[in-house]
Amino acid sequence: MRLSLDGFTDLVSVENDLVTVGAGMPLHVLNPLLASHGLALPNLGDIDAQTIAGAISTGTHGTGSRLGGLATFVEALELVTGTGEVRRFAKGEPGFDGAVVGVGALGVLTEVTLRCCPAFVLHATEGPVPLADVLAGYEDLFGANDHFEFYWFPYTDRALTKANNRVGRDDRPLGGFKSWLEDDFLSNTVFDGLCRVGRAAPRLVPSITRLSARVLSAREFTGASHEVFCSPRRVRFVEMEYSFPREVLREAFAGLQRVIDALPYKIVFPVEVRCAAADELWLSPSYGRDSCYIAIHQYRGMPYEEYFREFERMALELGGRPHWGKMNYRTAEDLRPAYPRFDEFLALRGELDPERRFANAYTEKVFGV
Ligand SMILES: Cc1cc2nc3c(=O)[nH]c(=O)nc-3n(C[C@H](O)[C@H](O)[C@H](O)COP(=O)(O)OP(=O)(O)OC[C@H]3O[C@@H](n4cnc5c(N)ncnc54)[C@H](O)[C@@H]3O)c2cc1C
Repeated sequence: MRLSLDGFTDLVSVENDLVTVGAGMPLHVLNPLLASHGLALPNLGDIDAQTIAGAISTGTHGTGSRLGGLATFVEALELVTGTGEVRRFAKGEPGFDGAVVGVGALGVLTEVTLRCCPAFVLHATEGPVPLADVLAGYEDLFGANDHFEFYWFPYTDRALTKANNRVGRDDRPLGGFKSWLEDDFLSNTVFDGLCRVGRAAPRLVPSITRLSARVLSAREFTGASHEVFCSPRRVRFVEMEYSFPREVLREAFAGLQRVIDALPYKIVFPVEVRCAAADELWLSPSYGRDSCYIAIHQYRGMPYEEYFREFERMALELGGRPHWGKMNYRTAEDLRPAYPRFDEFLALRGELDPERRFANAYTEKVFGV
């Protein structure tokens, strides 16, 4: 069964910094709408194509050592349960912490109330840095910036760092052409072309990743927060992302590099590393611990399964938790120990959807019932 929430995209209310919207509202509609009220979400991920319901249900996040993912901005939500009841959960009430990151297994979200902040401007600083330097100082880099992340292109010793910090004035905007050239043409059209070459001639992949790491040069600019956080992503890929306790990043990254070195094929897509603050949401990958996130990717049509399985095996040993909206091979059996409130979530699901109207192959795999 598939449901379309395309009709649930209305702005319901704006009361100071609390904004209630239809759960099917896409982020690319929500963000400008908030801006028109002088508001913004404190943090966002890389794209704005998702609906607010899909983003919060999967624990979607951006980066920021003092900020949680999008689900942590939810103050209340309305849900149609498996028994047809309309239930409202507000922050602090029983079940709320379980209902926000619900992986679609509890019912249909119809409305979401978000605690927003005043609209803000970000100053972005991007540039290549030796990978060893980033790994040696990542705690400081996460701590010193409002939002810090880095990309690593396999077979290179360089990282592309991105630091976004709040500033008072939007005085260095990227021109329309430069923005299109760097965020769209180079990152999508040119990169897609390079990936196609790598897929056709895998022995060229290390040269391609080295070239990709060089093409993206240093730049600085300012812009409205949602325009700096999100960019167009048109290259097709497969992805797995894991959250780790923040302190194991070096160990996890070394493990990832060993996995890549041992593969019988090459990886053309970069690795992305981000962070988030601990939160209280039962199925949030950042539940109860300050986290770092490592996302691995491979270009469409290229082999990836051994890469993903071996990375996941390593992640499991380090207490890794998968992103619910990306690929994973986990089952309820090995997820239960990773999530201290897993059984409470299953009990909530038993109450809200006793007949499993919202079960599918994925929820059966990860929740087991
Ligand atoms: C190019 C790309 C970039 C991405 N960047 C990031 C990133 O920066 N950070 C990050 O964390 N993730 C990222 N993601 C992952 C993405 O945020 C999630 O896959 C997100 O869930 C997609 O939202 P959607 O609206 O398409 O949801 P869907 O894929 O439609 O649904 C996702 C889940 O949410 C549930 N759901 C959706 N709507 C409802 C509803 N109304 N009620 C109840 N449950 C519902 C579904 O049942 C399903 O379990 C990215 C994905 C892509 C393809």
